[in-house]
Amino acid sequence: MAEPHPGHPILHFLNSVSDDGKQRLTNSFVGPEGLRDTLVAAGLAPRETAVPGSGQMAALIALREAAYAVLSAVAAGRRPDREEALMLETAIKSALQDASLGFHAGGLALVPGPLGGIHDQLVLLLFDLMRRDDLGRLCECARCSHLFLDHGRGAGRRWCSMSRCGNRAKAAAFRLRKKATTG
Ligand SMILES: [Zn+2]
Repeated sequence: MAEPHPGHPILHFLNSVSDDGKQRLTNSFVGPEGLRDTLVAAGLAPRETAVPGSGQMAALIALREAAYAVLSAVAAGRRPDREEALMLETAIKSALQDASLGFHAGGLALVPGPLGGIHDQLVLLLFDLMRRDDLGRLCECARCSHLFLDHGRGAGRRWCSMSRCGNRAKAAAFRLRKKATTG
């Protein structure tokens, strides 16, 4: 079954961890090449994007984790921690400073500067997400740390996806109930 779209392409980057819980210790991709492929597949980077070097790789992961910390707080209705908010703020200012206005049929877009590369492209997309009217609908999965924009009606979605977390959470709850009645 296809994973439901998280609602904004940059969330594919923030969700590129495969932990079942909230620890965010395991990447969902293998190495720099895997990250490049993930970004290309999500439409976040052009196909010809170079494989990130080790310094760039560290910067990308640091950006991902700072953005997750800030947006996880937003999803929970909390004020983000100062350190991560400051890191994100600095990254946005720097990316905007180097960006230029690009013109295309029917619109304008901020194009990252020549030195910023994929890092600045991701920062500009984060900035785009942060200014969206529906940011109040940002939710975090009840089981893992994946973020999504919930546009469903009613009680609201609890899981990033039924196949990844919903079914397993239900199965765990069932096992627990069974143990309580038999044990
Ligand atoms: Zn999940």
